[in-house]
Amino acid sequence: MSELTTRFFWDCDCNENYIHPKTEPSCAICSVHVDDDCQPDSHVSEVLAMSSMKEFLLSMGLGTVFIVFHFSQMPGTAPQINLRMISYSEEKALDYIDLQIRHGYPPGKRDDFSVVEYQIEL
Ligand SMILES: [Zn+2]
Repeated sequence: MSELTTRFFWDCDCNENYIHPKTEPSCAICSVHVDDDCQPDSHVSEVLAMSSMKEFLLSMGLGTVFIVFHFSQMPGTAPQINLRMISYSEEKALDYIDLQIRHGYPPGKRDDFSVVEYQIEL
């Protein structure tokens, strides 16, 4: 089985820090654009590894969860992808994003958030 990918992130041609959110269509380092040569969607496992939350996920047990990511990037730096919330319900994950937007924390727009369905397995 091929590895699970997420349509919310894509890989550029850099050797490191190559994961970008889809709302960031080009890489400032290697200049690749998301539409060039069909840049691949990122592996969920790599997005998760970037968020340093893999261990926490495993502690939740096996099954399907919905993970809310928020990203930000300062000019000239690597994108910061932060895991904000994990839920067993997609509806609750989307409610969480609405609440965050309404309260303005973290500052940003709807596109800065993404929900990834993830199957926790050993
Ligand atoms: Zn790049």
